[in-house]
Amino acid sequence: MTLLEIFDPKAPPRPIGIDLGTTNSLVASVGSDRASVIEDCFGKTMVPSVVCYESDGTVIVGERAKELAAIRPSDTIVSVKRFMGRGADNEETRRMGPYRFVEPRDDEPNVVRFAVEGRPPVSPVEVSAEILRALKERAEDELRSVGGAVITVPAYFDDAQRQATKDAARLAGIEVLRLLNEPTAAALAYGLEHKKNGLFAVYDLGGGTFDVTVLLLDDGVFQVKATGGDSQLGGDDMDRAVAEIVLRKLGVSTEVSSRPEFIRALLDRSRSIKHGLTTAQAVDAEFALDTKQAQLRITRTEFEDAIRPLIDRTGVACRRALRDAGVKAEELDGVILVGGSTRVPAVREFVRAFFGREPLADIDPDQVVAIGAAIQADLLAGKGKDVLLLDVLPLSLGIEVGGGVVDKILPRNTSIPCGARATYTTQEDNQTGFQIHVVQGEREMAKDNRSLAHFTLKGIPPMPAGLARLEIELRVDADGLLGVSATEGTTGIAQAIDVKPSYGLDDAAVEQMLLDAFDHGEGDLLTRRLAEARVDAQRLVLATTKALMADADLLAPPESQRIEETLAHLKATISRNEPALITNAIDAVDGATRDFAGRRMNRAIAKALEGQTIDRVEKAVEHAKGIEAAHGSPLPPER
Ligand code: ADP
Ligand code: MG
Repeated sequence: MTLLEIFDPKAPPRPIGIDLGTTNSLVASVGSDRASVIEDCFGKTMVPSVVCYESDGTVIVGERAKELAAIRPSDTIVSVKRFMGRGADNEETRRMGPYRFVEPRDDEPNVVRFAVEGRPPVSPVEVSAEILRALKERAEDELRSVGGAVITVPAYFDDAQRQATKDAARLAGIEVLRLLNEPTAAALAYGLEHKKNGLFAVYDLGGGTFDVTVLLLDDGVFQVKATGGDSQLGGDDMDRAVAEIVLRKLGVSTEVSSRPEFIRALLDRSRSIKHGLTTAQAVDAEFALDTKQAQLRITRTEFEDAIRPLIDRTGVACRRALRDAGVKAEELDGVILVGGSTRVPAVREFVRAFFGREPLADIDPDQVVAIGAAIQADLLAGKGKDVLLLDVLPLSLGIEVGGGVVDKILPRNTSIPCGARATYTTQEDNQTGFQIHVVQGEREMAKDNRSLAHFTLKGIPPMPAGLARLEIELRVDADGLLGVSATEGTTGIAQAIDVKPSYGLDDAAVEQMLLDAFDHGEGDLLTRRLAEARVDAQRLVLATTKALMADADLLAPPESQRIEETLAHLKATISRNEPALITNAIDAVDGATRDFAGRRMNRAIAKALEGQTIDRVEKAVEHAKGIEAAHGSPLPPER
């Protein structure tokens, strides 16, 4: 009998959903009735996120690569997601894994690269592309023709990490319909958007990371209200906990237990024991070590005692996410379980107790994210019944203004897509360009935040300080990527860039930045107020001194004396570390010069009208307006 496979050659390409995980990756699609994960020919749904490079140039991905990791540790890249969008300058990056890092190339000074067999050093984007390619091939075997893909990313992924994910997809020849936050995908898989309104928590415990997200559903639209988690907490730690129980029971010396091949084998065995304990109350295992043989029994109770501290750590992150979102556990309408490690009964027990309700777990927690991504891909490809999905910015975005202070334009937790505009001016006379520095973070001073982009706007005609009007717009699109545009109002000179930062932050770094901001809150505020007051004061001293020289004849002696006095006082306060003192001195100078400024303006206009062309008159009026209205914070000149 011949097996005939019948397919329609004109069938349109089918969109797919991809869960590109730290430990495991999956691909799913929507069939005639429902979404399901695509299996390989052995019925396996998960592709381990492991890539092995062989000396003959072949690349092995998945299960087989995972086996090779033991023999060829430095040519086999595991958990590459942790390296996505992270810089070579990041010390922590270099400590992760048994890899041979190479010095960054001159054209990409911030990209980490691994030296591997059979080809030039590879970047995390290239490694991820191999995983994506394998998933795409799997989908093509099943669906014949594959359309665009929705790829999921953690909600806390920053701009660099999202961009790196998109780059990997492009390298793999995949058209990205959209990047979707993992928790949002899980909520979609449960069809929660049909409930129209509600508050949900997504508890995602995977292989090496824990993420918790609070989602608000508003008229069928999801918004991420808060995210939290621990980038160094997951199933791998549970494997280690089991290994420690085994070592204790075996009474093995630390010398033996530090042999790398022993450790690797032990961890693999520990993982199967852990999986066994999900269904059984106890697991028996035989261990052979050198000449010794031992039969061990490990009980679920022993395991649960050992992982209790790990589970409690997830609670700390949950409490924080709820607090950030401003909700109480009992106000939630549902809790979703995601990630293989939520299969562990003690974890479910904990979630049930913590949130005070039965969590949603009908959909396989390993598959729920990929299924949600497939549903979203189907909706996007089918248009019409589009679900709008909103997420939030993980960290605030702002611009460095005079004195090194940050002007936050888009605050943390703003729903995306979003955009905002702010107006700035020149700090110095005849400044012909602006230096624009975009930063991400919560601290008040630019140097304490993460630098996202530096660019300059040039070609502005010389004008007195404070006259130019620079409008900066920041936009974050539905994928969480940032675009910056700057326009100088009096000349119309404009420039726009898409920020593609060359290095990123991991969630631990995001967390650290948030913590730093809390810790330094008051001190930061003082530094900021001081820096701002000093910039204002310097600007005023400069402008007043100039005005006194140019138009001294407009002043009566007592008036001039008062101005000189207040000005001297202002100069004396600038070096003092008391913002309030400086601000008061500024107010005094402002008060003393108010009438003088009015007279100067009249003179400027009158001068302009003396037999000048209309064009010059308009310019003078503009100029006069500038004297009148000091607008925005000053930006430093370009260098
Ligand atoms: P990631 O999102 O990090 O890619 P996954 O969600 O695929 O990770 O979770 C992988 C983790 O889930 C591994 O540590 C694995 O051991 C664990 N896991 C999978 N199945 C079970 C199970 N039945 N019992 C306990 N842990 C499990
Ligand atoms: Mg996952």
